[in-house]
Amino acid sequence: MRLVAALDELEEARAVWLAYEVEFAERRKKEKHDGLRRPGSVDDWHRLTWGGFGVAWCDDPAVHPREPLAEVLRRLIAALEREPGSTCPVCGGEQLAWKYDLDHEPSAGPVCTDCGILVPRPVLTPESLADARRARLLVSA
Ligand SMILES: [Zn+2]
Repeated sequence: MRLVAALDELEEARAVWLAYEVEFAERRKKEKHDGLRRPGSVDDWHRLTWGGFGVAWCDDPAVHPREPLAEVLRRLIAALEREPGSTCPVCGGEQLAWKYDLDHEPSAGPVCTDCGILVPRPVLTPESLADARRARLLVSA
């Protein structure tokens, strides 16, 4: 039963992400047509995460969000749709620490110390990204 539940959860998460990708690609095409340009960082993030790979990654399996993956993805997507902020888009945590040598792409970035999610950089303000980089020095490896 647990395996079935896990697969259902994965399936739902996939559906959420694919719907977002389709929507994003269409919007992008329209924007290009209208001559609009987006900040490059959002595009960079999409290049890295295309296909859902690398989205909602938790580097440490012991620390992960309490919410189902589909809900985590919805929150990440909602955060990408609004102005950059300073907190974790999944749990609202304020402690973000820069981590290096992650097992996946991107191989470094701000990780929420509460839920363990790798926060997409376009979601955070430049100040928050700078804070996260500094915070790394305070966190023992
Ligand atoms: Zn968090």
